[in-house]
Amino acid sequence: MPRPDTMVINTIMLQALVSSEEVMGTNGLHAVLRNSGLERFVDNMPPNDLNSSVKSSEYAALLKAIEEFYGRASKGMLRRIGKASFQYAVREQAALLGLAGVALKLLPEKQRIKFILNSVANALKKTNPQIEVWVEEEGDTIAYIEKTCSICWGRQSEQPICYLYIGSLSEAVLWATGVEREVIETHCLAKGDQYCRFEIGAPKA
Ligand SMILES: [Zn+2]
Repeated sequence: MPRPDTMVINTIMLQALVSSEEVMGTNGLHAVLRNSGLERFVDNMPPNDLNSSVKSSEYAALLKAIEEFYGRASKGMLRRIGKASFQYAVREQAALLGLAGVALKLLPEKQRIKFILNSVANALKKTNPQIEVWVEEEGDTIAYIEKTCSICWGRQSEQPICYLYIGSLSEAVLWATGVEREVIETHCLAKGDQYCRFEIGAPKA
């Protein structure tokens, strides 16, 4: 059953476009905008607000165009765009994320990880009540799960493909703990799973 084509709020699209430009340069961004039928964003960024003028299908098309444009290099590209997106959110949307004035230093690492993942999930839900996202803890494993992932909207793949999400979540964990950790996408809607699930793994060597 096809997923409903929900809306993506402007600030999330802006985040993706600014971060893509940062990682791929202006020419790279313009090329993928043209390849994905999103010419209207060439030199014309959406406003930084919570209105929605973009559909999930368009957001997913942009990311697919990046994949096609860069081929094998695209996984790393998309991860870097995800990292830049989280940095943008901290810079421009700290209040929305609930991070303004937060001090995590006294908390154990696991608490910090849960705090930041819940902050990201809650911010998304605040901006769009249609979004189904949550954080799960089982034994020593912490996972971030979204049932309405726009990144892989309409996509089919044998492997998980939400590299941008992996980048964002690993940057979030780094921000909260000072430690870079592996983030593994264990389930992906594009594979036919019920949701996209990201497990926080071991620290990177
Ligand atoms: Zn996904």
